[in-house]
Amino acid sequence: MDCIFCQIVAGKIPADIVYQDEEVIAFGDIHPIAPTHLLIIPQRHIPSLAHLSEEDLPLIGHLVNIANHLAKREGISESGYRLVVNCGGQGGQLVPHLHIHLIGGRRLSDELG
Ligand code: AMP
Ligand code: ZN
Repeated sequence: MDCIFCQIVAGKIPADIVYQDEEVIAFGDIHPIAPTHLLIIPQRHIPSLAHLSEEDLPLIGHLVNIANHLAKREGISESGYRLVVNCGGQGGQLVPHLHIHLIGGRRLSDELG
């Protein structure tokens, strides 16, 4: 098991876990780019968006729902925030375990990339 996020799920490497349920965990990004920068991930290893199947669609809804819930808890629901999912090499994905970035707490760039 050399996936860093699977190791976080398994408790083998530490993370600042801010939310956990049977399917999902969320933790602080180790290199935050904004006052709020959390990662919301499925506990199950799914490499990327490109590996989702029809059966995974409810899970994606759940991940986005948790992201919205955490945005409220962080107090950035009204001011605004961004959810980002990088997919694949050219999409800027560095960790090959599906994750949603929740970024907010400052005015974000108008550019997407
Ligand atoms: P991506 O480029 O979308 O794959 O983003 C991967 C993110 O994971 C980056 O923002 C990293 O800072 C973050 N990251 C990598 N290792 C860890 C870790 N051990 N704990 C928390 N965040 C991490
Ligand atoms: Zn994994």
